[in-house]
This record gives sequence, C-alpha cells and structure tokens, in this order.
Amino acid sequence: MSQDWTIPEYSIRESKRARQVTIKVSSWTGLELVVPVGFKRSEITKILQSKARWIERSLARTHPAEELKRPESIRLGMLDEIWHTEYSIVPTERVKVSKQAGNVLFLTGPVDDAVLVAEGLNQWLQKRAEDVLAPWLGRLSEELSLPFSRLSVRRQRTKWGSCSAEKSISLNRNLLFLSEPMARYVLVHELCHGRYLDHSKRFWSLLETFEPNARQTAAKVRVEADSVPRWAQV
Ligand SMILES: [Zn+2]
Repeated sequence: MSQDWTIPEYSIRESKRARQVTIKVSSWTGLELVVPVGFKRSEITKILQSKARWIERSLARTHPAEELKRPESIRLGMLDEIWHTEYSIVPTERVKVSKQAGNVLFLTGPVDDAVLVAEGLNQWLQKRAEDVLAPWLGRLSEELSLPFSRLSVRRQRTKWGSCSAEKSISLNRNLLFLSEPMARYVLVHELCHGRYLDHSKRFWSLLETFEPNARQTAAKVRVEADSVPRWAQV
C-alpha cells in the first residue's frame, strides 16, 4: 500500500520487556502497538505503513460482516433494564424512537431499513448515556476526590474511555451495555488518570485503593465487550 494509506485508529502500550515493536490486532483492542520504553513515536508511522497490507487484512478479519438486524429487545446491563422494541412503518425520512409504558421502545419511520433503525437507536442510546454517565461521573469524582474538567460521551470503537492531560474525560456510550461494576471500574480508571496519565505503578496503586481487584476487573471488562450489540457498533 502506498504513502496515502490512512492509518487506522491505534493505541500504543509501552512495555519494559519489549525489545522490538509488536503489532497486534484483536476485535477488542483494535490495532495496538507494543513498544519498548522510550521508543521514538516518530518511527511508528513508518512501521505501520510498512505493515499496511497485513494490518488491513487483520482488521477486516476481526470485524466479520455480521448482518445488521433490528433488535427485538435491548439489554442495558449497567441500568439493569430490558427494553422491548415495537416497529411501525411510516413514510418519513428518519426513524423516531419514543418510550412507551412498560419498557417498550416504539420505533416509527422507515423501520424496514436496519441501518436507519440503528441510527435512530444510537441517537436514543447517546442521549441515555449522557443523562446517566454525566451525573454518575460527577458523583464518583466528588466521592473519591478525583477532579476532572470536562466530560464528552460518544461512541468509541476501541476504547471505553480516555482522559487528557487537561483532565478532560471521554466515555464510550456503549458502557451502558456493561454490568454496573464494570462500568464503574471504567469511570474510576479514567478519574485516576486525572492524577496520573500513564499506567505506571503509582497509577495502579491509586486505582487499587478504589477498585481492589482492578487488574482482574480490567480483564473482565474486555470479555463483557461482547455484550455490545451489532447495531450499537455502527
Ligand atoms: Zn488507562
């Protein structure tokens, strides 16, 4: 592939044991580079470009073209909610989602189109995630005395959350599909990054004061990633 190949989103992990750069691709982490400590970031683009073909092929394999179908029900583990969907076809441009009594989501519009259904549901999910995650992060921040400056909620393909040097936290709206303890773990993890940006020993020991089994929990979060339905990944 040529120079104008667009490098996919990737993450970098420094490892004390790494002697050379390793490129990993998995459905959960996406494209990940494990590099020796102090590795020059300027070299990374070159390395990625030299492996472009392999990376593209591996990424395509981790995202099998699973058919996009409209869901019969939606389970939001974090909120312990199950929603049942009802569809009514109406000649409008967009799918509208409204809440009915008894945990029913009523979808109207071009509901025979799974892509437009997913779009409508994702808008509903986005709003739900903002309404729930913002106050929760605020409460945790106060409770644990770990301040942050700003929160943005959006869909992220490979991360549950992130935190910038300015203590600006970004959370994945698909956290709603995880169980409550797993989602809490992610929020606390990002709040701890407000103090230490890296994954150093002092970061983990801070995190472990709030989440005693932090490392095991981190592994479980990866497994629970499977509970995100296909429509929420588009
Ligand atoms: Zn982290």
